[in-house]
Amino acid sequence: MADANEPVSVVGIPSRVEYTYSPGRATTRFLRAIEQKRLMGQRCTGCGKVYIPPRGACPRCGLPTDEEVELTDKGTVVSFTVVRVPSENIQLELPYAAGSILLDGADIPFQALLRDVEVADVRPGMRVQAVWVDDAELQPSFTNIKWFHPIDEPDVPFEKFQEHL
Ligand SMILES: [Zn+2]
Repeated sequence: MADANEPVSVVGIPSRVEYTYSPGRATTRFLRAIEQKRLMGQRCTGCGKVYIPPRGACPRCGLPTDEEVELTDKGTVVSFTVVRVPSENIQLELPYAAGSILLDGADIPFQALLRDVEVADVRPGMRVQAVWVDDAELQPSFTNIKWFHPIDEPDVPFEKFQEHL
């Protein structure tokens, strides 16, 4: 039994936090579009870079990204990771791959799950396309895209996407 005079050093306290997130104007436009299976990015008025999801301003120039740009749901894997370690928050069968996907016409990649492919076959430059939820399940959420999977197109050479890593 612990000494009654010894300080307690660890206390377990179960807690839960709920919060409401206000996405702002740029992300609201993105979410309204993705609800209709459309991927809307925004172009910087200064450097011309296209951001998706847009945040309303270019982190490089500090200028607004006022021009809306509709992008395809096809892209290129620019980097990836393979998850092999179980976690209570991961419901997927291990191992699985998550990739940094650069949509065609975009200048920054975003993270997405990669499926319908063996993890050993995932590689930078691999061409992929979004797999969407059924139309009846569409909502204003990035979760409308279940994952990306490979398409029958030639790999993109590293030189073509190296500046977008
Ligand atoms: Zn810019």
